[in-house]
Amino acid sequence: MLPPSLEELIPADHVVRIVDHVIDRIKLDPLVKKYPGGGASSYHPRMMLKILVYAYLCNTYQSRKIEAAVQSDIHYMWLAGMQRPDHNTINRFRSERLKGVLKEVFSQVVELLAEQGVLDIKKMYVDGTKLEANANRYTFVWGNSIKYNKERIQKQIKELLEYAEEVTKEDLMDSAPGEITQINADKVSQIIDQINTSLEGKEVDKKIKNKLKRVKKSWPKNLEKYKKQEDILGDRKSYSKTDPDATFMRTKDDHFKNGQLKPCYNWQISTSDQYITNYGIYANPTDTLTLPSHLNEFKDMYGFSPEVVVADAGYGSDENYSYMEEQNIEAYVKYNFFHKEHKAKIKPKEVFQAQYLYYDEDEDYMICPMGQKMVRIDERQVETKSGHIKKIGVYEAQNCEGCPLRGVCNKQEGNRKINLNYRYRKLKNRARERLLSKQGVQYRSQRCVDVEPVFGNIKQNKNFTRFLTRGKENVLIEVGLLSIAHNLGKFAKN
Ligand code: SF4
Repeated sequence: MLPPSLEELIPADHVVRIVDHVIDRIKLDPLVKKYPGGGASSYHPRMMLKILVYAYLCNTYQSRKIEAAVQSDIHYMWLAGMQRPDHNTINRFRSERLKGVLKEVFSQVVELLAEQGVLDIKKMYVDGTKLEANANRYTFVWGNSIKYNKERIQKQIKELLEYAEEVTKEDLMDSAPGEITQINADKVSQIIDQINTSLEGKEVDKKIKNKLKRVKKSWPKNLEKYKKQEDILGDRKSYSKTDPDATFMRTKDDHFKNGQLKPCYNWQISTSDQYITNYGIYANPTDTLTLPSHLNEFKDMYGFSPEVVVADAGYGSDENYSYMEEQNIEAYVKYNFFHKEHKAKIKPKEVFQAQYLYYDEDEDYMICPMGQKMVRIDERQVETKSGHIKKIGVYEAQNCEGCPLRGVCNKQEGNRKINLNYRYRKLKNRARERLLSKQGVQYRSQRCVDVEPVFGNIKQNKNFTRFLTRGKENVLIEVGLLSIAHNLGKFAKN
């Protein structure tokens, strides 16, 4: 006689029940603390989180579509206990309440899955992808064009000062306020005022007079603009005006794998058995520079470092190997030329490359392709952008003059010189040994079917190829929700 209840309509093994069950087991204290109390009663954060995770699992990312689903789809209605948050509430919850707390929720989900034995949290396969930001492709700011414009202003100031010196016969360059090379809006205003004062009452070329009038207004304003843009840029080369956190990166997404420059974020993940165990968003397009911070975040989340890290050649750098060695992590990470070194046939020209030359560690010398001893002539320390110090030895061949191999071996002036990074060489040798071991071969083949299909699933099956929100923090929430949804979706299928 009674109409069927929602409870009866949801099958016992439906994925929505897994979302409900898992989110019920998560401690949400940091999220609950974000609700100050008082005012109108709000929707419970647990219910809101369930709805969002389920929506991301069903490839529904827009708040208006989620609002519609909560009103008409029995799975959402069951999950929401028949409550109906509107799109504004959903949006606010996603962009404000989840800020800074979603990673903790994510880590608890991963720990629960690890307890179920479906993944091994101590083993991680790392990779990254560039995902397009929600930003205009044509509103870019380039660090190089700022540099070029500033240099142009410097050059023209110098020319104006030279002209004024010629007319006044005074030494203005030395009395110009500060170094012209370190220009800023105030300094430029002062120099232009100084030029104008010195030229007062003198016969001045009309063109110069007009130029001085024009640049007095435009240069300080432009330099202020450049200063603000440089602050936003930081150590990046570009950013988008519509999403200043997004950097222009080359993506390979046309059918011919041609690179296209688009505003993107570099999304890094670690996986274990195709479950995501860590995620991060980076402005730097190079994977190499993201690994230490990605591993630090892992340690912060779980309280320990992974035991094994498997990654492709994009991550094999001196800094990354050193970091993993310090943290006692077994690194199965390839380096550039790893595959070239081990392919069956090396091209004749390649045998001249520095990595194929013999280095005697005890006696500290290298042997060139003609069998000459290359001795160390210099040693220096180089600091990377992140503060990592590299010790480099410079080795020189004794006499390249008249050598029949000269043209193919090198085109340097004088004798051939080679830079040798001692620590990187040692760490690479250790990595090579590990990568070629039986275990290494197994990890390398597993990497291709562990982390790479996860990106494929999210981009192709979940149809997520562009972020919906702007700003790094919002984008981080999007990838967090996607990662939880991916993990629960995969768990439901097992
Ligand atoms: S060019 Fe110089 S470094 Fe190269 S093979 Fe000849 S002697 Fe050796």
